[in-house]
Amino acid sequence: MDFRAHLEKDSIFKTISEAGGKLGLPTFVVGGYVRDLILDRPNKDLDFVCLGSGIKLAQQVAKDLGGLQVTVFKTFGTAMIKLGDRELEFVGARKESYREDSRKPLVEDGTLEEDQLRRDFTINAMAIRLEKENFGALVDPFGGVKHLEEKLIKTPLDPAITFSDDPLRMMRAIRFASQLNFDIEADTFEAITNNADRLSIVSMERIIVELNKIILSPVPSYGFKLLFQSGLLAKFFPEMVALHGVENVDNKAHKDNFFHTLQVLDNVSRVSDDLWLRWAAILHDIAKPATKRFDKSVGWTFHGHEDKGARMTPGIFRRLKLPMNEKMLFVQKLVRLHLRPISLVKEVSDSAIRRLLFEAGDDVEALMKLCRADITSKNNDKVARFLRNFDEVEKKMIDLEERDKVRNFQPPITGDEIIKLFQLSAGPIIGEIKEEIKEAILEGVIRNDRQEAHELLMKIAEKKGLINNEVNLKK
Ligand code: ATP
Repeated sequence: MDFRAHLEKDSIFKTISEAGGKLGLPTFVVGGYVRDLILDRPNKDLDFVCLGSGIKLAQQVAKDLGGLQVTVFKTFGTAMIKLGDRELEFVGARKESYREDSRKPLVEDGTLEEDQLRRDFTINAMAIRLEKENFGALVDPFGGVKHLEEKLIKTPLDPAITFSDDPLRMMRAIRFASQLNFDIEADTFEAITNNADRLSIVSMERIIVELNKIILSPVPSYGFKLLFQSGLLAKFFPEMVALHGVENVDNKAHKDNFFHTLQVLDNVSRVSDDLWLRWAAILHDIAKPATKRFDKSVGWTFHGHEDKGARMTPGIFRRLKLPMNEKMLFVQKLVRLHLRPISLVKEVSDSAIRRLLFEAGDDVEALMKLCRADITSKNNDKVARFLRNFDEVEKKMIDLEERDKVRNFQPPITGDEIIKLFQLSAGPIIGEIKEEIKEAILEGVIRNDRQEAHELLMKIAEKKGLINNEVNLKK
């Protein structure tokens, strides 16, 4: 690969090369950018290393670019410049040594090779020279190019040392394998298995960044299987590990819910890049172990796993440091409703569809994607039949929504109107009346229409003895 030609196409490298030249600092572009350049993947984060002060280099570059702002992280000796949608990071080459009892390394100035050695994987430890005289020369001391060709994740040092120094690298190994569809070299994988316990010293925030990247990879089940086999998954997500395994009673076995969940996750991932829909797939059956029963006549049951799973969702989000906001509520809603479309397939009634539209609201499409993904039978005819029935359900949903607009239900008559009309003071009766009107709409007794709702309101009012002569009964 002609790195020189590549770098010459992008003026930022010339700018940085010249800034390094002015300061007399040998400068390199390193790490993920070099890896992705060879793989032809886009990368907006550029890391630059120089033999000297990265902060001074950043200040020079910012000046040469017309006075851009430099964000300096003094404690880490790094500096960052934002250039459009790109982030340029600058650091002086350094050597790191770790002590047994701490994740915090001792950091000293180092050579380029020492800087490359402290990086996690051979494919992330390549550098390209930016000095004028050898601009574009690749520095690849650990066989990064070869390992990219062999699709291999391997540490530059003895993996036991690399992982013990910063155990997050075990998550990163699996993350890169999953994102790039690479293998993890055997000794490297064995070291992950042996050091899995060390993950306990890593913060959940760092773990979850890597987990979410695994979840967003093209076939996330691959990453999850590696997490499971290595023992890492059990360290931070025991609820998911509990899905694994098959129990057999009276020759009746249930399916392995761990592998089923992974298949649902892969199915969802084929049709959506949405991280939270993928999380809903991961959690949809999470309460199956807790609700599992064996019944002599019907075999294995998991009654109520959707409700219990929804109740478990906030606790899992909180522990995993996932956001406790509308994303969590979205996942929780999908977990709670994930069986509903399947039950509709068996018996489609307009009122059941209206109710589902009402409860799912704007998330109904995401819910249908999850439910389609949840059909994982080995029997192709059965899968085809279910999917055809889902088509029917979706057609009906569109018809009913056009007619009744229950998806983002707004009551056709407001509480204020009811108060004024019958000269009531605010109280539970208003809610009861509104509920009765809503129920009538969902049941199909009346349409979601002001006129029909008003007629019903009058009947309800009469029944409740709210109408007297003084009341002004204007519409
Ligand atoms: P991506 O851009 O896909 O997140 P990346 O590895 O390119 O992945 P960063 O996580 O920003 O992006 O890391 C940049 C570089 O820093 C890596 O390529 C690697 O050389 C080094 N690096 C990052 N994290 C670690 C770590 N925990 N241990 C050792 N080296 C690391």
